[in-house]
Amino acid sequence: MDFLKTMRAVWDDSLDGIVVADTDTIILEVNPAYCQMTGYTREQLIGKRTNVIRSGLTPRSVFHEMWAHLGSEGKWVGEVINQRPDGSLWISYISITAVSGRDGRPEAFVGLSRDITDRRNLEDLLRSQSTRLSSLLEAIVVGVVMFDPDETCVVANQVLGELLGTGADALLGKRRAEIQPLFTRIFGQDGLLSPAEWTGGVTVATREPTPRYFIVRWAPVTASSGADLGQIFTFRDVTRETELDRMKSEFVATVSHELRTPMTSVKAALGLLLAGAAGPVDGPQQELLEVAHNNVDRLIRLINDILDISRLESGRLELRTRPVQIDELITGAARELESVRSQREITLKLALLPDPPPVLADPDRIIQVLVNLLGNAYKFTGESGTVTVRTYADGRDLYVQVEDTGPGIAADQVEAIFERFQRGAAAARSSGGTGLGLAISRALVQQHKGRIWAESESGRGAVFTFTLPLV
Ligand code: ADP
Repeated sequence: MDFLKTMRAVWDDSLDGIVVADTDTIILEVNPAYCQMTGYTREQLIGKRTNVIRSGLTPRSVFHEMWAHLGSEGKWVGEVINQRPDGSLWISYISITAVSGRDGRPEAFVGLSRDITDRRNLEDLLRSQSTRLSSLLEAIVVGVVMFDPDETCVVANQVLGELLGTGADALLGKRRAEIQPLFTRIFGQDGLLSPAEWTGGVTVATREPTPRYFIVRWAPVTASSGADLGQIFTFRDVTRETELDRMKSEFVATVSHELRTPMTSVKAALGLLLAGAAGPVDGPQQELLEVAHNNVDRLIRLINDILDISRLESGRLELRTRPVQIDELITGAARELESVRSQREITLKLALLPDPPPVLADPDRIIQVLVNLLGNAYKFTGESGTVTVRTYADGRDLYVQVEDTGPGIAADQVEAIFERFQRGAAAARSSGGTGLGLAISRALVQQHKGRIWAESESGRGAVFTFTLPLV
């Protein structure tokens, strides 16, 4: 192999710039990469001092250190900031070696230079990105903790550190299993960090004498390449909102309770007037009194509903549960609505499970749910329609279903109708409802640890189903 020829190829094709200078730093030779990097031609460089390419921005101490190393070890590696003839700056990662003659004294210097400007910019960018992110993390009032796929804590902000009483630094680098007991101590729940329950966010209360409330959310962290980067948990303090909500419900409950007593006596008085207890009433008087009586009646229903919903929401409605036979409750509700049914000539079909297993329920409250569903079914089913009540069970729950042959519910409404004061198109035409019945029913069923939902195709009737846990 022709060694010189090979070295020639290295010289010509090297991606790193190569410069050879004498002991006075006068440039003797440069390779093509060096010219390209510096922006000078070979002719412009040869005969000049190596410092022609300097920018004046490299700290002096760097050159001091360079000469010291070259003097003692004959070699130096470092970074300098250079400038091209067009004024642009570039950063050189350079290794300089002193080449010594036979007498051991340096005869020349060889510099190998690499342009690392891009890499540096990238590093600066990354550094400023991460500074921005960590400032953000500390500025927000939400507690944040993140675990990598090995379950090691890689992110924890101060808010979370304070919540756990350890500070954020104490959490970083810890295993999830080590951190878990801290959460358990505060929230008193095992498996607080178990994602399955948390995806949509749950409200948890601390174990303090005056509890604080947090909404906890969980999300997997995935890189744009699809790689798993771990899991992130956020803790938002909602103590104030929770407290305000409770106060509001309590206020509404008190007001409706106070309204109910005078309303009831107004109704009674109107009833007596209508019955002629205070003397005979003529035709027009009778009509006016009936309007007043009906409206007071409606007002009392509304007040009762508001009272129920606010009690349910503030958690002050206590259930008196006992094992009950569902059939009794269904016939009880049907009896209550018998006059409505017969007026509209609706057929009521019962398809009940023979010997149904007993359920754990507050009978009055479940009758209230049934009256609501059955009442709606009668109300929305046209004359001579059919309403079917069905029961069935699986190993855990009993299902009660109320099906009608009315107009049904539009697909985008089947969830919304369970909200407070949500009344569909069908209801706008009929009067008398409060828009609270289903909201109350859902809250009551949920307090029984059951579920309630509606299924319907517009124009083909509606099916309401709720479950109750078996004894
Ligand atoms: P209300 O009946 O007093 O309006 P609800 O909360 O009981 O209030 O019902 C909310 C809405 O749900 C009703 O206004 C109606 O639009 C719809 N809805 C309930 N039951 C039925 C049903 N069986 N068929 C069709 N729509 C229904």
